[in-house]
Amino acid sequence: MPATAPSRLPIPVSLEFFPPKTDEQRETLDKALPALKALNPEYVSVTFGAGGSTLSYTPDTVCQLREQHGLDAAPHLSCMGGTRAEIRSLLQLYREKGCRRIVALRGDLPSGMASYGDFRYASDLVAFIREETGDFFHIEVAGYPEIHPQSDDAQADLLHFKRKVEAGANGVITQYFYNPDAYFRFVDDARRLGVKVPIVPGIMPITNYSQLRRFSELCGAEIPRWVARRLQSFGDDHDAIREFGADVVTALCRRLIAGGAPALHFYTLNRARATTTVVERLQADPAA
Ligand code: FAD
Repeated sequence: MPATAPSRLPIPVSLEFFPPKTDEQRETLDKALPALKALNPEYVSVTFGAGGSTLSYTPDTVCQLREQHGLDAAPHLSCMGGTRAEIRSLLQLYREKGCRRIVALRGDLPSGMASYGDFRYASDLVAFIREETGDFFHIEVAGYPEIHPQSDDAQADLLHFKRKVEAGANGVITQYFYNPDAYFRFVDDARRLGVKVPIVPGIMPITNYSQLRRFSELCGAEIPRWVARRLQSFGDDHDAIREFGADVVTALCRRLIAGGAPALHFYTLNRARATTTVVERLQADPAA
């Protein structure tokens, strides 16, 4: 793997992309890649559309990132709506392509899709991957410091999370959040339950308030009132939003690093600037 400028961060960084489906989206990702590669990510991951809606785009993007860009690209694999046979053949394909890491998820039932498929929860998928491929893959699963949005019982959610890890996960990437105490509490609770694997915070850079609000409503992430009110007050001043967003997210990352986060996983949305701004500020001074 070609090493570019080495990161001076005390912890590794990984980056998440979604698989482009159109020429325009492909161009956007291609344009972002040089600057993102220069951050020297430990690995990059590629999301999988709900109900298999990116069934071919995800493997294509993973292969392209591996073969053309020399990145250690890991596919997301969500089981909602999928059959055992479909998932078995994707596992086979990723094995052949040299992938050793998978992000295993349940996904969400897309509107209009009636059947859950052969697996009900991510824990079933993790157990199936282990059954089929033994220890071949390093498996990451999702964690929710602010509770999974469909769960009405925080304690039960935590116990389901613990069972998912026990099914064979090697690591956890969290949903994004802007309140570091939610993450620290989640890690403490998980450790008390005996979860020992690394729990890596997912970081969502801020560039667009209406998009962030939409995402956050869907995934149950809380935008603190003071952040929301400030972002709102900038209106269409995108530079001001970016500058304030970079301040907020850099400060969040500094708290996470100081509090012992083992790595940072950035949701890049296939764009470079917001992520590179934060990482470069952290590289310049991780503890400021
Ligand atoms: P699970 O761990 O199965 O949990 C889902 C819900 O079921 C929770 O409320 C949990 O408490 C409950 N539950 C679990 N087990 C049981 C049980 N035995 N009995 C009763 N209830 C139970 N989505 C995509 O479609 N594609 C992606 O690529 C993708 N990437 C993601 C990456 C990260 C890092 C994160 C944090 C999320 C990602 N998602 C993705 C979103 C994810 O698919 C959704 O949040 C989904 O709703 C839950 O997936 P999960 O794997 O966490 O599910």
